[in-house]
Amino acid sequence: MINQDPQQEFEKLLKTLGEKYPDGDLDMVKLAYEFAYNAHLGQKRRSGSDYIIHPLATAQFLAELKMDIPTIIAGLLHDVPEDTAVTIEDIKKNFGKEVAILVAGITKLGALKYRGIERYAENLRRMFVAMSNDIRVILIKFADRINNLKTLEFLPPEKQIRIATESLEIYAPIADRLGIGKIKGELEDLSFKYVYPEDYKWIMEILPKKYKEKERYLEKVKKRVARKLLDSGITLSHISIHGRTKHLYSLYKKLLKPQVDRDLSKIYDLIALRIIVPTVADCYSTLGILHNLYRPMPGRVKDYIAQPKPNGYQSLHTTVFTENGEIVEFQIRTNEMHEEAEFGIAAHWNYKENKGGINKRSLKWIEELVKWQKQTQDNEQFLNDIKLDIFQNRIFVFTPTGDVIDLPEESTPIDFAYHVHSSIGNQCVGARVNDNLVSLNSKLKSGDIVEIITDKNRKMPGMDWLENVKTSMAKGKIRSALNKSKKL
Ligand code: MN
Repeated sequence: MINQDPQQEFEKLLKTLGEKYPDGDLDMVKLAYEFAYNAHLGQKRRSGSDYIIHPLATAQFLAELKMDIPTIIAGLLHDVPEDTAVTIEDIKKNFGKEVAILVAGITKLGALKYRGIERYAENLRRMFVAMSNDIRVILIKFADRINNLKTLEFLPPEKQIRIATESLEIYAPIADRLGIGKIKGELEDLSFKYVYPEDYKWIMEILPKKYKEKERYLEKVKKRVARKLLDSGITLSHISIHGRTKHLYSLYKKLLKPQVDRDLSKIYDLIALRIIVPTVADCYSTLGILHNLYRPMPGRVKDYIAQPKPNGYQSLHTTVFTENGEIVEFQIRTNEMHEEAEFGIAAHWNYKENKGGINKRSLKWIEELVKWQKQTQDNEQFLNDIKLDIFQNRIFVFTPTGDVIDLPEESTPIDFAYHVHSSIGNQCVGARVNDNLVSLNSKLKSGDIVEIITDKNRKMPGMDWLENVKTSMAKGKIRSALNKSKKL
């Protein structure tokens, strides 16, 4: 890595871009490279390599994500204003307003002046604001961070731990929330060994043997299933063994769950078989064929096609018992679903004309966070609420008219009411879930249809409501309504 040749890396970038944009005009990319090259000339990274290698790697990552040309150019230029004499104004003159705005967005994310918890909060606030201005800024930041994590070994230990922790606790959950599994996985796995070195060592000791055994067995299952599907007339686009060795940190988190209690044999999806078929109908047919072949484990069939995860993830999952009682997980999806799972919001930049077509729901979520972070001045409060909000699993419930509302797990009808409107929240006196009257502090489940009963005479939230809500939005609105009533 230390002796990478900039020219060679740049040619690799041009090659990737040439494949993605066969008729694209790459002259601006060439100019941006020369510009960045000259600006960073003489600067070295801690690893000893020329500085330009880092922006090149950032741009390469973005090119592989199929981002558009202005994003690639901004990736090449992203450290120029911060580390050299060149200003944003110079970048605007040379590369136009769009690129200048992207680079300015990344520059604003850098140079945090706080420490500890204040720094953490400040970091999150800036990320949300940047995302709401232009989601591409955050994707460039992810690419930048992934390259920094790859060269983390050259930094002093305190810095390693700080950068890795920040990546694990802030960047990865946001990538997950945006549905970009590929980035989330890389951020987590690159950070894991720095943040939890002991546990990382432990996993590396226990995993490979178990994994090899299971992999050998799955090779056989794979052949059998492929044959069976082809015999049944299914066109198989792809069938592959998908290992959690690529997602060590998510495996680690599973191992820590109380019902697993660090017992690797209780992780059923240590390796899964992933089947990609042309159409949605093929997905369901494949599921039927599998269940005909092997007995499904009760409660483990998940239809994320009919009910996608809030971040957009779609697939069918099932866990079955194979011949000798071995337990195997299958994931069945179409090619489009696969792209979406790997690239999430970034998948929508594949087509230039489709700029407006990005996942509206993800963006709405970001807008809400921005609005809300402006209201909450107290950093500690902000962090506690936000941790509950993004850093946990989400459910999705329906309004009586069929609109989907995305909430954290364990949300209550009160969360739902405030999500719809603050006046609905303040006037809420009861709730019907799936046509049954329920108490306001009951926990909602995915798929619930929720109807809020309001009373116009009610003007104020209940005193105990703060303890019965999960979302930061509801907390903020309840607090402000209670504060107002105190002042009266
Ligand atoms: Mn950088």
